[in-house]
Amino acid sequence: MTDPVTVAGTAEQPAGEPCVLLKLGEVVLKGRNRHQFERLLQLNIRAAARDTGLPVELLPREGVVVLLVAPQELTAAEHAAAVDRVAERVSDVPGIVRVCRAVRVAKTPEAAVAAAIELTSPASGAFAVRARRRDKRFPVTSSELAVIIGREVQKAHGLPVNLKKPDTEIFVEVDQREVFVFTSSGQPGQGGLPVGMSGRAVALMSGGIDSPVAAYRMMRRGLRCHFLHFSGMPLTGPESIYKAYALVRGLDRFQGGSRLFVVPFGKTQQALASSGADRLQVMAQRRLMLKTAAALAKRLDAAALVTGDSLGQVSSQTLPNITALDDAVRLPILRPLLGWDKTEIMAEARRLGTLSISELPDQDCCTLLTPRRVETRARIDDLRRIEGRLDAEEIAEQLAATAQEYRPELRRPAAERSC
Ligand code: ATP
Ligand code: MG
Repeated sequence: MTDPVTVAGTAEQPAGEPCVLLKLGEVVLKGRNRHQFERLLQLNIRAAARDTGLPVELLPREGVVVLLVAPQELTAAEHAAAVDRVAERVSDVPGIVRVCRAVRVAKTPEAAVAAAIELTSPASGAFAVRARRRDKRFPVTSSELAVIIGREVQKAHGLPVNLKKPDTEIFVEVDQREVFVFTSSGQPGQGGLPVGMSGRAVALMSGGIDSPVAAYRMMRRGLRCHFLHFSGMPLTGPESIYKAYALVRGLDRFQGGSRLFVVPFGKTQQALASSGADRLQVMAQRRLMLKTAAALAKRLDAAALVTGDSLGQVSSQTLPNITALDDAVRLPILRPLLGWDKTEIMAEARRLGTLSISELPDQDCCTLLTPRRVETRARIDDLRRIEGRLDAEEIAEQLAATAQEYRPELRRPAAERSC
């Protein structure tokens, strides 16, 4: 711990330390396992903070986490900018509902007053103090503290108080060991649960718009996702692989350590066509993809598959066809976008920064060998018969075993090896 904290501010010595205050989400509602989940979230926060290359210190607190940056030789402005960078980076970590830039001061009303005065100026306009105590033993109540700070800020800057419609809000949070003061309520975090809390999954990642959003939604519910992409090679070029790589790299900031497995699927698609799949070609392909994903999941100790299916969006996503896809594997297939409209998925993809990558042109393997009419009510028996002709389980095992692995991580760029 870096106590004691500075009490009063001067030009050279600002009142308190700039810090990032992270408000934890659902994890604090957990019962007996809460501390284990909080530790996992702290690990994830530490890993993300390390990406900045800054010496970050993490202080766990009740329902919040505090991040400090060792000031080293930095000027006050450089130090504040470094803390901003950390805030920006950790805002990608699922499990945090709010990211606030704050000043951490000693646990006295005087220190809170000094920080509030320093964070405001005569240009701050009408203001309101919003005080709360996480430590009820603090000798001054929240409303008393608000009055004390309000009076001193008024005196220092000559500002009017307006509790209903203030131009500036001064937030004061009394914690167990210190007080946090800030004037912006911060940025929303990703919400959800810490990655890893719900286990591991294999996300089927096309180069399209839906699958990266689906993977993100499941990461946000605590699932660590590894990715599987089927290219049409050797019947197509490698463009879809570049897209999958870029998409996984973009999503890696939410979980770290992402692995992408790539399977050239063109010859298998041809084999299905030769075995007379005809109108069932797309469904037979999708089932073989799922079987391959299940075989890979076994190798990776993953307990679920994730796809970007949205009910009724394309022919393979009608209810009878979804039922026929579920029949292909024993693992649960998680489809977080099932009830989403395309416009909603696109808006989320834009927010995540994946939309522009997904919209790049490529030749999707699914469009290869697509029959003129696609079956919308595939019969499971017919699909099983086609699969029986070419030993689909064996093919899936082989494809999973020979998948090429890439690590499109932020931290460890482009190290490549095979499965
Ligand atoms: P997306 O926009 O993600 O490509 P889509 O709307 O094109 O999805 P489909 O092509 O029917 O829908 O695919 C549904 C889901 O199947 C995808 O979201 C993805 O999870 C999986 N999938 C489809 N093609 C591939 C592929 N080439 N590699 C890996 N997974 C795939
Ligand atoms: Mg698509």
